[in-house]
Amino acid sequence: MVGADCIFCRMGKGEVPVEKVFDDGTVFGINDINPKAPTHILLIPYAHVTALADAGDTDKAAVGHCLGVAPTVAQGASIASPGYRLVVNQGLDSGQEVPHFHMHILGGRPLGSMG
Ligand code: AMP
Ligand code: ZN
Repeated sequence: MVGADCIFCRMGKGEVPVEKVFDDGTVFGINDINPKAPTHILLIPYAHVTALADAGDTDKAAVGHCLGVAPTVAQGASIASPGYRLVVNQGLDSGQEVPHFHMHILGGRPLGSMG
């Protein structure tokens, strides 16, 4: 699901209108359409990276960049304090819906323990 069929690629190309809450040319951030917390932002590399296991060096740089900018995005969303959660789903059992790498940033309420 690259390019034409990928919803996140289409957002990146401007083919699907979306409000970007963050954009540095490598990664863009959008509000999740089905938020699981008061703040639920998706950080999405412009590059179509599918599975982490298949990521080449360029893909890994884009993936790492998501982690690198997450604190800035959290700060911008006013959730850096008291805190937030980063989530990356990979594969069927994780519940991953969109096979284009993305990182969830969740916050705005106590998120509880994971399990
Ligand atoms: P995942 O389950 O990790 O693949 O997460 C995919 C996320 O993308 C889900 O939380 C969806 O709610 C979100 N999503 C799907 N389509 C859109 C869209 N058009 N705009 C914003 N978020 C979306
Ligand atoms: Zn894509």
